[in-house]
Amino acid sequence: MSSLAILSQVFGYSAFRGQQHEIVEHVIGGGDALVLMPTGGGKSLCYQVPAIARHQREQGVTVVVSPLIALMHDQVGALEEAGVHASFLNSTLTFEETQKIEREMMSGRLVLLYVAPERLTTPRMLSQLDSLQERGLLSLFAIDEAHCVSQWGHDFREDYLALNVLHERYPEAPRIALTATADDLTRADIITRLQLDKARIFISSFDRPNIRYSIVEKDNARAQLLRFINDEHEGDAGIVYCQSRKKVEETAAWLNDEGIAALPYHAGLDAAVRKRHQDKFLRDDGVVMVATIAFGMGIDKPDVRFVAHMDLPKTIESYYQETGRAGRDGAPADAWMAYGLADVVNQRRMIDESPAGEEFKRGQRGKLDALLALAEAHDCRRVRLLAYFGETSTPCGNCDNCLHPPETWDGTDAARKALSCIYRFHQQRGQSFGAGHLIDVLRGKQTDKVTQFHHEDLSTFGIGADLSEAQWRSVLRQLIALGHVEAGGEYNTLHLTPTAREVLRGGVELHLRHVSDTPTRVRKGAKGTKAPRSKDKAPPIALDAEALARYASLKAWRAEVAKEHNLPAYVVFHDATLAEMARSQPASLDALGQISGVGEKKLEAYGREILRVLDTAPG
Ligand code: ADP
Ligand code: ZN
Repeated sequence: MSSLAILSQVFGYSAFRGQQHEIVEHVIGGGDALVLMPTGGGKSLCYQVPAIARHQREQGVTVVVSPLIALMHDQVGALEEAGVHASFLNSTLTFEETQKIEREMMSGRLVLLYVAPERLTTPRMLSQLDSLQERGLLSLFAIDEAHCVSQWGHDFREDYLALNVLHERYPEAPRIALTATADDLTRADIITRLQLDKARIFISSFDRPNIRYSIVEKDNARAQLLRFINDEHEGDAGIVYCQSRKKVEETAAWLNDEGIAALPYHAGLDAAVRKRHQDKFLRDDGVVMVATIAFGMGIDKPDVRFVAHMDLPKTIESYYQETGRAGRDGAPADAWMAYGLADVVNQRRMIDESPAGEEFKRGQRGKLDALLALAEAHDCRRVRLLAYFGETSTPCGNCDNCLHPPETWDGTDAARKALSCIYRFHQQRGQSFGAGHLIDVLRGKQTDKVTQFHHEDLSTFGIGADLSEAQWRSVLRQLIALGHVEAGGEYNTLHLTPTAREVLRGGVELHLRHVSDTPTRVRKGAKGTKAPRSKDKAPPIALDAEALARYASLKAWRAEVAKEHNLPAYVVFHDATLAEMARSQPASLDALGQISGVGEKKLEAYGREILRVLDTAPG
């Protein structure tokens, strides 16, 4: 069968996306490949279609290396639903189950086998692979999340290093390595460590046009988050990233109090609790996962509608990875971040105080600077994001800055005032103070501390009364972001850096974004009195009332099937596929089979049922 026929008959899709076709053909032909594609780009099909094609030709098995044991069950379930014989081997199986799967593999009946890297390199597995190779039944190796092999990456796994054995021991089996991590260093590392120097490299654009990027100034971050969820994502599934475990727990509890179904996830929770929360997130509708970065890799839930950051990530790479988990289905999704002065101070300090070597720290500072520049930008966020990954683009029209160009003001003068005030502190008694006190002095506020240190006598006392506290915070944030001021010591006191002199002399212009002075507050008395949250989120396409009723019936039917098969609902059919069924109301199996996402196996297994549901739906 041609690759296109497999795509349409097995997966029910009518066309390949982007470079998928080229990649698939290259691998079917026996070539090695390194595939760099953003999350949601469609990497799975790049090895699944070749696995099926090569199996049809010569009965071989494709071995998929994946670090994510917890997700193998669902990945395999999705393939079996589509009629592709697949299994996984990992530590969750009993001895009997393992033996049964091994028999399937050794007979050559199995099309895809998912294994964790530590399993693959056991003597038992290697001798089984030897035997497969001898009988010409070893078809292909797919190495998913290939960046795990690199120490530069953020998910380094020791076990991945041993994967070079594949090339040495099974030189005839082609290999395809896939990752969504783009930077040059990691890429080079993957090629060397996996010995992929002969592989063809496929680099897709890293743009995710359906994701809308917004970065807001932190005011009252929780209230801002709640407003964002209530106004724009009521009933939607989403991920909220926090830096610490404690903050994860607190934020999740608080969201629940506010009537939002939220669950915590971090490495400090019991493995069983983590699994339960992950399953709930994957299987139920509209769950918000509040998590540290321990959560997310390999999560292929297609309908995550937003990713929110309550704290600044460490680098643009991690920001991009984390936000990329939104909108894999291609429908509109939001990447939202609240960011403030404390974030900048904390991130800088964490680097300064880490025990790492000076060279490493320099690298980290450079990466943080790039992220801060993105956060402070007045122009298109996407243009900057893509530029970081080496792509040039034009303003996107789908980020906060494109949609609501921020008003800016010339902050050069204000910056000089702040710097001279820090300088005066130092001059007076060699002292330094934190941002709060500095702002009080600039604004001429008579506080106890001002009296104590006689700061009303400074020439800089009250010279900044024309600016609000929020505006001053924004000035300081920029000065720290740009490296003219450093915060350090136990109390995060502020110090000038050598480059501050240049600003003081007026040689540097600072353009700052206007902060809106409308405070975000939780609506008083809202709790308990507001209308109950509707459980039903909007369908992915506009439907009239009758079609909506059909859509609801189809979803109810899907929930039953998913439960029976112990799989997430989206593995049975995506929302978009159900919505299209509800809209076009196919009257025959043939017509139903034309809908995107309905392959032959699913048509055979569910076709009649679906026609019946459509027939008997109210409306
Ligand atoms: P990745 O692994 O790159 O993050 P996936 O392989 O999970 O992405 O694919 C993302 C989504 O896009 C999945 O829901 C998949 O079914 C869908 N998809 C991939 N390729 C196609 C295609 N050619 N046509 C339609 N949908 C596709
Ligand atoms: Zn833009």
